[in-house]
Amino acid sequence: MEKRRLVLTFPASLVGEPITYKLVKDYDIVLNILKAQVTPEEEGKLVVDLQGTESNLKNAITYLKNLGVTVQPLKKDVRMNKDKCTHCTVCVTVCPTKALTVDRKTMNVQFIPEKCIACELCIPACPYNAMEILI
Ligand code: SF4
Ligand code: SF4
Repeated sequence: MEKRRLVLTFPASLVGEPITYKLVKDYDIVLNILKAQVTPEEEGKLVVDLQGTESNLKNAITYLKNLGVTVQPLKKDVRMNKDKCTHCTVCVTVCPTKALTVDRKTMNVQFIPEKCIACELCIPACPYNAMEILI
């Protein structure tokens, strides 16, 4: 069994489609949703682990792309710009892995890169653009 950790971005037209059901039923994929942000009428985003045979994974990813889903591997290049961060804690609530936490002594928000899966959910959540993707 192979494994892929991916970010799936759905256009509004696909929100509500039984895509995860089809991945399991039609492509024999073991699906683990790490994080979901899906709002009707808007874009949806899933961070998932997909497990299956190499050919099933390939076919499943082709199916997703043909539907119009953007499929991206997780990147490893997220950082917190400490000069911009106001420690408002908004990002803490969206981070699925606790890579962003509040230090209870200082009440400052800390970024722990080792826990970051680079799902990018904190990027649009931060009102001060303090979470950045390094290119
Ligand atoms: S949302 Fe942005 S400003 Fe607020 S704590 Fe997180 S990184 Fe800092
Ligand atoms: S990209 Fe942001 S939200 Fe995602 S795991 Fe890393 S710190 Fe958390």
